[in-house]
Amino acid sequence: MTAPLVIAVDGPAAAGKGTLAQRLARALDLPYLDTGLLYRATGRRMLDAGLDPASPADAQARLVTLGDLSRTDLRVPQVDRAASLVASQPTVRRILVGIQRDFAARHGAVLDGRDIGTVIFPDARVKLFVTASLGARARRRWEQMATDPDAPDREAQIARVAQELQARDVADSSRAAAPLRAAPDAIHIETDDMSADEVLAEALRIVADMTR
Ligand code: C5P
Repeated sequence: MTAPLVIAVDGPAAAGKGTLAQRLARALDLPYLDTGLLYRATGRRMLDAGLDPASPADAQARLVTLGDLSRTDLRVPQVDRAASLVASQPTVRRILVGIQRDFAARHGAVLDGRDIGTVIFPDARVKLFVTASLGARARRRWEQMATDPDAPDREAQIARVAQELQARDVADSSRAAAPLRAAPDAIHIETDDMSADEVLAEALRIVADMTR
């Protein structure tokens, strides 16, 4: 019997990996897990408990369940920073490995994150590394969040988003524990000049190729 199909989708924040991973999962009828939400849920629990997210977060990480992931307060700037801080703790990462592997164990899955192809599923049959320039990522993230698309200070707002993304890139890439890094056998998709449909089509071509 062949092992269930696991597709790892890694890359920096706002490169388009979440959109791609969700659409791939739908197209291939696989479960989908946004693994960033596990670190966000841990960071959220730290903040809710009045704890500094830079302090040891293992007790809060142990409390995280898949049920946490539907919370609506995980995508706010305070939690962006808290998630990045708890994610740099090796013990937290070790605690959250099990939930990710269990998720894909029965039916396979598409998982998006930073270390899926390198640490969580080094044997994944398909590994994609999705990137885009900092400018393109900042613009996309701003468009997702903007309350007024015609704001007169729009460019300044986008520049601030770029600064935050860059700070997170540096933290995610330079930490000792499972830094953001492409697996040597990952296939890179650079999404700057591609629509979401084109990215999906390219990924489906790669999946078809690798699973033939
Ligand atoms: O993907 P997202 O931006 O929601 O992830 C939030 C934070 O969680 C990231 O900045 C990163 O520090 C961390 N993360 C991680 N490993 C993953 C997914 C996310 O370290 N697999």
